[in-house]
Amino acid sequence: MNRPTPPDSNRRCILLLVDGLRPDVAESELAGGRLPHFARLLAGGTRTRAITAFPSTTSVAYLPFLTGCLPGRCNIPSIRWLDRSAYGGRWWAERGAVRSYCGYQAGMLDQDIAPDVRTIFELVPESAAFFTMITRGLTPDRDPIQGARKFWGAISHYLLWHQPGDDAVAGALVEWIRRDPDWRFLFAQFPAVDGYTHQTTPDAPRVIEALRRVDDTVGALVARLASNGQLDDTLILMVSDHGATVVKHHLDLAVWLRQRGVPTLAHPELWQKNPRAAVMVAGNGSAMIYADPGTPRVDRWPLARLRRPETFAADQPDLIQVLAREPAVAFVAAQESDGTVRLADRSGEAAIRQSGDAITYRPETGDPLDGPFSGTRSAWLERSFDGRFPDAAVQLLDQFRSPRTGDLIVVANEGYDFRDRWELPEHKAGHGSLHRAHMQVPAWSNRALGAAPLRTVDLFATVLDWLRVPLPDGIDGQLVGPVAIPARNG
Ligand SMILES: [Zn+2]
Repeated sequence: MNRPTPPDSNRRCILLLVDGLRPDVAESELAGGRLPHFARLLAGGTRTRAITAFPSTTSVAYLPFLTGCLPGRCNIPSIRWLDRSAYGGRWWAERGAVRSYCGYQAGMLDQDIAPDVRTIFELVPESAAFFTMITRGLTPDRDPIQGARKFWGAISHYLLWHQPGDDAVAGALVEWIRRDPDWRFLFAQFPAVDGYTHQTTPDAPRVIEALRRVDDTVGALVARLASNGQLDDTLILMVSDHGATVVKHHLDLAVWLRQRGVPTLAHPELWQKNPRAAVMVAGNGSAMIYADPGTPRVDRWPLARLRRPETFAADQPDLIQVLAREPAVAFVAAQESDGTVRLADRSGEAAIRQSGDAITYRPETGDPLDGPFSGTRSAWLERSFDGRFPDAAVQLLDQFRSPRTGDLIVVANEGYDFRDRWELPEHKAGHGSLHRAHMQVPAWSNRALGAAPLRTVDLFATVLDWLRVPLPDGIDGQLVGPVAIPARNG
């Protein structure tokens, strides 16, 4: 197939985000011939993997695709956070300083994104999006099924009924292409794979069926593009925002702290009086802990201070050490005043420092990131892509760029998560952590994307480059392997 080079003015892009789709699940369905429309689409294109952003959870991990920036840079460090400089312990009067995008505050996400970060919807006004929580830059008519998102998002979690959300996205997406001759960028989120994964396993029959229906949507989409004469002008990407793993044990961090004598504030129990800790869980494979959250302060407390007995006033002298030795915990991370990120696992401590372009990781008494290393962001990605914690040094440094990030980041081991008591219905599988099965995602395209290792944040640059829109200054994503044209001869 020899695909012609479209003129710059005709170029279009469709980004299909299959929420929570594991790359190995997608690859095995493709290899088994069960995704025939994808198979045809990818002929001459790319079937690779990318590394998502931490925390590997819905909405936060969409930010890289839509802004070219990592979550910390966007000042959206997680799906739940506390404004340490504003919260003074009055849980009702100051509820605006404690955030959860999982409930009534979901609509605040757009305004919470750092004001100097531009969304692709602002940069490409001829955009439309389907089922996304991030809508900054979209006029209401370009966000046509927001009402369906709120409706299905609210009830599917309890009714275990996710396919209608995907069906609404598929219908609206194809209809948009039929109706609007001038579109340039379309973003469609398919929620069902993630929804069914949480209730079963990442490769359960219902998950596979939802993926197969996305494949049907690709078939309908391609047919519509072809009949419009737009197929050769359109870059089509299929990605995910995170992976998933089966959760065998829930260690509810808020309960864990309370059992050790620490009055703890956590969603939905925000009314805790005189809290010594606040816990904000994401995904549920990671969490942020804030010490002494009822006393406003700007500075983060370093690990040495968090280890002091008086910090949490727990019944253990060094609560951090006890936590880091829990089987559920891979490691914890905190930041020193000079920017050093200090990690602790069951064996001891290690440090990450950034100087110019060089990021240096040095094990001290412990070694959670597997050996000393120093290199650029690209070198880190290449080195850690298939490691236990892909891109961890870059992602942790990013987390601490946000003033909203907690004093301590807690990263779960595979098979564990940090929420139990209030997770109804129970999550049988989850995500949110930094390990490979949560951080690697599929990155499929109908065009050749080049061979360099990718972060999802780089795909923002790929899309803008394809659309011939200049990249904004100061973004985290970089153009790795511009889209090759023609894709393949033969
Ligand atoms: Zn999820």
